[in-house]
This record gives sequence, C-alpha cells and structure tokens, in this order.
Amino acid sequence: MEQIKYWEEDIKICTQVDSGDDFDGAVPMNPGIVMTSCFAFPSYQHLSSAIKQERFNCVYSRGSNPTVQALERKLAQLERAQECRCFASGMAGITAVLFSLLQAGDHVVVVNNIYGPVLQYLNHISKNNISFDHLTEDISPSAVENAIKSNTKLIYFESPATMTFRQTDMQQICVLAKSKGILTMIDNTWATPLFQKPMLFGVDIVAHSLTKYVGGASDLVGGAIMTRSELMEKIFPVGYLMQGGVMSSFVAYLCLRGLLSLPLRMKQHQENGLAVAQFLQKNKKIVRVNHPALRQEDKTLTQKYLLGYSGLFSFVLDSEDFSHIAAFIDHLKHFKKAVSWGGFESLAISPHFGQYDEVKNKGVSKGIIRISVGLEPVELLIKDLENALKNV
Ligand SMILES: *Cc1c(COP(=O)(O)O)cnc(C)c1O
Repeated sequence: MEQIKYWEEDIKICTQVDSGDDFDGAVPMNPGIVMTSCFAFPSYQHLSSAIKQERFNCVYSRGSNPTVQALERKLAQLERAQECRCFASGMAGITAVLFSLLQAGDHVVVVNNIYGPVLQYLNHISKNNISFDHLTEDISPSAVENAIKSNTKLIYFESPATMTFRQTDMQQICVLAKSKGILTMIDNTWATPLFQKPMLFGVDIVAHSLTKYVGGASDLVGGAIMTRSELMEKIFPVGYLMQGGVMSSFVAYLCLRGLLSLPLRMKQHQENGLAVAQFLQKNKKIVRVNHPALRQEDKTLTQKYLLGYSGLFSFVLDSEDFSHIAAFIDHLKHFKKAVSWGGFESLAISPHFGQYDEVKNKGVSKGIIRISVGLEPVELLIKDLENALKNV
C-alpha cells in the first residue's frame, strides 16, 4: 500500500509544472534555462538585503539560479527532505558535505562497500587528522556500535552497496547514531529517490549522483545533496558557495527533463534487471548473483527499505582469472564496455580492471562482473549473455 502511495505522489512531483515563470497567467511547461552569472537589482538596498540570504535569493549563480532551484525543489520533495542543493557532480556534492562538516580530530565510520572515490577522498583527508574506519564484513548495527569512538562525527554508508549490492539496517544505525549525537549520511544513487526514502528512516543527509538514472541519457554529470535546513545552513556557505562546484542551469534543465520519464524508465530497468538476474542465477558458470531481490540474507531489509529495484547489479563467475573475465566481457556484443551506469544502454565491467587492489576492493570477489541493465529489449540482452557464457 505504502509503495503505491509513494509511487503516485512521486509521479506527480516528477511531472508537475513548476517553472517559476508566469507570462500574464500562462505558465510554460518547462522552466527557462537561465544563463546568467549575476542578477541586477532595482536598487543597492535591494541587492544588499538579497545578498544576506544567498541560499534563497538569486544574486549570483554560484549561490542560487532559478533553473537549478526548480530541480532542487523537485528533488527535495521526492526525497521528503526540507532542502536540496545540486552540484557539478555527485563527488562535488559528497565532498562538499564532508569538507563542510568534518574538522581535524573527527572520526568517520564507513559502513558497507562505498563508491571508490569517496574512500579515496577520506584517505586523502586523513592527513588532516580526520580518521575513518571501514566496515565491510560485519556491517550489523552492533558492529557499527563497536566501531564508534568518542570523536565519531559521522556514519557514512551505501545501501545497497557499490559492487556487492548488500544492504544494511539504516533505521537501526540511525537510532544508534542519534542516541550518541552522530550524523548519518547515505549515498542513495542506486535506488534513485523513487525506490528508497532514507530520510523517512532517520538518515540526516542523502547524496545522489544525478549522472546515473536521473540524467538517464549518459549525457551529463551532476549531483545532489538533500538534508534538513539546519544542516544545509552549515553546508551551503562552505561546501557550496566557497567551494563553488555548482550545477549549470543547462544541466539542471536536462535533469528536469530526465525526471519526466524517470518513473517509467525505472519500472523498465527493474523489469529488465530482474529478468536478466533470474537468467544468470540458473547458469552453472555463475557462483552467485548479487541482485538485492535475490540476496536471501537481505530479504527482511529489502522488504523494509526498498520500494523497487534498479537495473544495476553484479555476479560472480566461477573463475578468478582475469583473462577469463576479460574474455567474457569481450564476448558481449550488446553490453558496452564502459564505466558509469543508469543510461539507456546496457554496460558491463569488472571493477578490478585486471588488477586486484586489497584496499580499494575490500570485500569484492575477484570474479565479479557488474552490469547495468538498460532499456533495450530484454531478450537481446539475455541472448548476448548466454552467448558470452558459452564462450568462457
Ligand atoms: C557515480 C557515483 C558517484 C559519483 O558521482 P559523479 O556524478 O560521477 O561524481 C557516487 N556514488 C555512486 C554510488 C556512484 O555510482
């Protein structure tokens, strides 16, 4: 029931006409792409009062821009957050939050496999005396509790996780964090704002790479951060205005266009992804399929948190030999060999790129292949995989 309720509300939000423009009562279906660096005011006094609240007022496009704001309003509503800010990339958003909220002496608990560059960023800032511990094996709330130190400021996680698509009990982790005054942050890119609503389970900050499903056409790079006003008040002046990794109005327009078809596309990604995952599960050359719907050990978490499945998952071949993995990928004719995901086209990679890195790939088996199941006819994709499996 809940699921249907969110779905209907979300479709309304995605497709709502909210351009902010009004031409004698006639409102355009889409917002204008406002290409301006600065905004002219009728008086110095007007400018002076507007600049005191750059988070809300359009003064300079590194602070606020109407096209970007139109996207931020929709994304905040979809995520059930008070505020949203859009960035030049997912990484710009995530690092803006970490840079704004952490200081020397702070400690971060990282739970589950996370996007590699975020781990690299945490490694990089450890030279500034910001330390972290990374849990990948035991990711239960009790393991998180054991990892918390007196200086822990933030618990950062992904669920379902990058590469393994394993889930963690975010609500329990949030209860624990709140009781100790620790902030929580999730990278919710996999599920999109449609298929998981972390803020409803107590997560303080949600991050998205809009480069993936929200953009949906492999033609842009963008990111978003959603949180409550009290925290955005801290993130905006430093991570947004000072760091300046903001989204352009043109990219915001493309993301708004992406939102129009997001529900329809996600429904099809889900259907295609499930069909491919079920096909792979039956093949003897495949040891396991890491799709949240097929991970029996995560069944209760799936029922509790997920409102649907996207089309990104992984599987493990029965060989750890990189030449076999490369041969399998090269036998695929339809799946393209490329990083990223969330576009129309199906993609396949081995995250190891022929080399096993103990730190970067903690908890990720050598034989793993990640696929992004796209929107092509699913029979084509299954036939392609079937052929590649015959050839390894
Ligand atoms: C791609 C990705 C990011 C980073 O987003 P960019 O837009 O490439 O900066 C962060 N998290 C996850 C899970 C991603 O897949």
